Amino acid sequence: SKVAHFNLNDGLESTLVIAKNVVKMKKIEKRYAREAFVTGSPSQINQVFLNLITNAAQATGADGVITLTTRVEGARAVVQVADNGSGIPPDVLPKIFDPFFTTKKIGEGTGLGLSIAYKIIGEHGGTIGVDSKVGVGTTFTISLPVEVMRE
Ligand code: ADP
Ligand code: MG
Repeated sequence: SKVAHFNLNDGLESTLVIAKNVVKMKKIEKRYAREAFVTGSPSQINQVFLNLITNAAQATGADGVITLTTRVEGARAVVQVADNGSGIPPDVLPKIFDPFFTTKKIGEGTGLGLSIAYKIIGEHGGTIGVDSKVGVGTTFTISLPVEVMRE
């Protein structure tokens, strides 16, 4: 897929438009860096954002808050998608990036989102991690190189 130099803030904004039915009842808090450019596939990165935002929306109730953060740390651009939802139990946490692992009902999840996210972020030279506490919420952190060298 096409590689471009693009601002992660714009990626998050496009994703919110696509995800509007999932997030319409949620409060979205934005803590964006002025700009956070990376080089990579915008459609693939936005696919990752869509899954993280959908997961966050599904994990929260009527008081759901989803916080989107971008920042630049030296040669890395960092994106966080945080929610105040159910959280992930410690015994479940090691499985969430496995293909087909889901705790959702049939039709609500395929269990592929995070395994695809892991693959896409890895192919971009980045990392994806999670921090979660049951009853408090979950934060996914993606770190991407500001410049990705490609053939
Ligand atoms: P799916 O969303 O189709 O279930 P994912 O790969 O996106 O598949 O997520 C795998 C599992 O990780 C989910 O079924 C859920 O148990 C857990 N999970 C992911 N994100 C969150 C979140 N923000 N809050 C709570 N649980 C989550
Ligand atoms: Mg998902």
